[in-house]
Amino acid sequence: MKLYLASGNAHKVRELQALAVETSPGVVIESARAVGGMPVVVEDTGSFAGNARKKAQALHDLLPPDGWALADDSGICVDALDGAPGVDSAYFAGPQGDDGANLQKLVRVLRGIPADKRGAHYVCVLVLISPGGEEFLFRGECHGRLLDEPVGSGGFGYDPLFVPDGFDRTFGLLSEKIKQANSHRARAWQAVAEWLRQRGD
Ligand code: IMP
Repeated sequence: MKLYLASGNAHKVRELQALAVETSPGVVIESARAVGGMPVVVEDTGSFAGNARKKAQALHDLLPPDGWALADDSGICVDALDGAPGVDSAYFAGPQGDDGANLQKLVRVLRGIPADKRGAHYVCVLVLISPGGEEFLFRGECHGRLLDEPVGSGGFGYDPLFVPDGFDRTFGLLSEKIKQANSHRARAWQAVAEWLRQRGD
């Protein structure tokens, strides 16, 4: 079974491919490049689920007849910012979608916020669209807290600032294996994998 990933984000592609290898031997995740690249999608629905559906639908239109579309919409919700940047995480510092600038902006806007008010959680919504056009939605969250300054260079995006619950180091410092067992994306993917198992895929 081939799932085509509706994303131009190489980090997401790598993480999801590694998760699929571990959990689902019969499943291959192809990047959108295999079908000419991810079409431009305006992420304007205001929700993770809506944006993920929009991305999956855009790619589904380009797939071979037996292709499944898989889309990931994700982001970080910060308690002290009433859940922002949330669905706008990729564009927090501007429309160019610069991970480094986004991280620096988060450091800046949280300056002076005390440790006990620095809670945050990542959200990942995965949407699958079958060759026949049926849609299935899966969600994962990863709760934790944000440091004052970035530490480490692992992962991507906001990972150097984010310490997941149960650990004392950021995803920027923790091993890939730990992120792959605990992240929002891993949790959403585990739900996909379980669903695929039950279908016999
Ligand atoms: P999307 O491509 O619109 O889903 O935006 C995802 C954005 O959320 C990324 O550009 C990052 O800023 C942030 N994000 C999502 N997942 C992660 C993660 O696993 N680590 C760090 N940042 C993430």
